[in-house]
Amino acid sequence: MNKYLALGALFIVFVFSWIVWPTAGVPILAYHQVSEEDDIYSVTASQFEDQMKYLQENGYHAISLEDLFKSYQGQGKLPEKPVVITFDDGYEDNYLTALPIMEKYSMRATVFVVPSLVGTTEYLSWQQVSALEERHTEIGSHTMSHIALNEISPEEQRHEIEDSKTVLQQHIGKPVVFFAYPYGQFTGTTEQILREAGYQGACSGVAGLNRSSTDVFALKRVNVPHPKYGLWEFRLRLFRAHLYSKLGL
Ligand SMILES: [Zn+2]
Repeated sequence: MNKYLALGALFIVFVFSWIVWPTAGVPILAYHQVSEEDDIYSVTASQFEDQMKYLQENGYHAISLEDLFKSYQGQGKLPEKPVVITFDDGYEDNYLTALPIMEKYSMRATVFVVPSLVGTTEYLSWQQVSALEERHTEIGSHTMSHIALNEISPEEQRHEIEDSKTVLQQHIGKPVVFFAYPYGQFTGTTEQILREAGYQGACSGVAGLNRSSTDVFALKRVNVPHPKYGLWEFRLRLFRAHLYSKLGL
């Protein structure tokens, strides 16, 4: 009987170790707004601060997608527990509210901007886009007009993908090589168009972590919507992505 107990205990220890042992996978967090708005895509400033504090206290280091890609290409080593923090759509609060909090906890982010929304109510101005870039935020494209790419022709996709890159580059004076699919949607030809336009990678809406073997035009993300259960939900979302990565999902 004791033998079975010992075997059982050993098995539990094994499973537990397997679960908590770190993976090589890198989480890419997906945010939209940091505001007091009662919206599923908005986290409040205090919730966001709790999350950034949690990341810092637990040894996470925020890196850019450029850092991640350089490490994949064998140039440069990633810090311990790397995390990429992304924002879709380019809301003004990313600059006004999220940036000061991230700076307080030594974090940085990638913001996917929609040029046709820049300067409109609630969205970043071009001046703020440049200011974000100057304060170590990586700027990516999220199409010209925030359209679902699976609903338009390849020619229209090309316009959305190429023109947004050109306009963003003109404003920030730096190459824009990362992209996020609006609504997570794309077609079989989208990757080719992105490659031809000079993009290096694109973020999808698929949940999980990223390794060097992950399709660079379908990078996985950990969605962070408005939490119903406080910081525990954030921790659970990170843990779930870790578990998916363990299981090879
Ligand atoms: Zn979007």
